[in-house]
Amino acid sequence: AASVVFENVTKIYGRNVVAVNDVSLRIEPGRLVTLLGPSGCGKTTTLRMIAGLEMASKGRILIGDKDVTTLPATDRDVSMVFQSYALFPHMTVLENVSYGLKFSGYSRTETRDRAMAGLSLVGLDGYGGRLPSELSGGQQQRVAVARALVLEPEVLLFDEPLSNLDAKLRRHVREEIREIQQKLGLTVVYVTHDQEEALAVSDEIVVMKNAAIAQIGPPRALYDAPADTFVADFIGEANLIGCEVLSVAGEMAEVAVAGVRHRLPARGLKPGRATLALRPSRIRLVEGEGLAATVEKVTYVGPRMEYTLAGDFGRIFAVSDNVDTPYRAGDAVTVGLAASGPVLVPDA
Ligand code: ADP
Ligand code: MG
Repeated sequence: AASVVFENVTKIYGRNVVAVNDVSLRIEPGRLVTLLGPSGCGKTTTLRMIAGLEMASKGRILIGDKDVTTLPATDRDVSMVFQSYALFPHMTVLENVSYGLKFSGYSRTETRDRAMAGLSLVGLDGYGGRLPSELSGGQQQRVAVARALVLEPEVLLFDEPLSNLDAKLRRHVREEIREIQQKLGLTVVYVTHDQEEALAVSDEIVVMKNAAIAQIGPPRALYDAPADTFVADFIGEANLIGCEVLSVAGEMAEVAVAGVRHRLPARGLKPGRATLALRPSRIRLVEGEGLAATVEKVTYVGPRMEYTLAGDFGRIFAVSDNVDTPYRAGDAVTVGLAASGPVLVPDA
């Protein structure tokens, strides 16, 4: 497994479509890194530049120690799994998996053994003789994964590999991909627009917005310490409340939220308008100081209660696993700012 490095990489399509804008990035060997962001933010273009299917307009790309910036796809040790599995419909599963090995100089028996081993890795022992049409969507995608795996690439790329699967299968196949990646110590770059999928499978997430990187970090860090309102809103659920940073002393800021003053880590912010991000599951209703609110809506959803709370700060969404003594619509409550784990973020 190899590292992947982008040094100030830009991709411009035609005259002026800037699909990737001055991106620098280092992916360590043996890690699964996800490119996450809304449609059109440049994820696929980034992936295709690693594969050599698109050439960078500016900057340098390295795979391991090798500068591959101008190297054609066929000379890069990379394979890619697409959203549409792109299996050959008239070939058996085994033939599909063997296909890429034909050009690798293996003997017929060796090719067959490797293809069988690949199918075994994705849990499809005994399916080699079938046609793709005789498999479910999830199984077809696993064949596509096996086909990429048997090439033993330095880097394995996935472009929204689960988009064509239903929700239950998505979860199952993503866990399989993660297991195989960890078992074999593969470097994987994984593209998705689904934040839950990214949180579940990644060592690190690269959040992209408008052709650039908004934030890079492990799932937990992005969730707990989003760089700005875009990341806070895109990763997990967040209540975003406008606030004002009144003053900053050292690491701490004095913040006014709907008339309530509160001290919080400044996270590099300066006095002026900013936003408080509150995760619904972290919101605590307390006796004493905090934001005054009224319970507007109560929904019982099995293992937890969902509340909409309204106040001078606007409306927020909260969840609580106390289903035995729930609040009722109309109750006056207090959102304990200190207890609710608010994070100060700059407006994106
Ligand atoms: P994502 O995968 O995040 O949805 P893409 O990398 O596919 O984003 O696209 C990024 C931007 O580049 C979009 O504005 C898209 O319309 C544009 N783009 C992608 N491919 C091409 C192409 N071959 N020619 C021109 N523009 C393109
Ligand atoms: Mg895409």
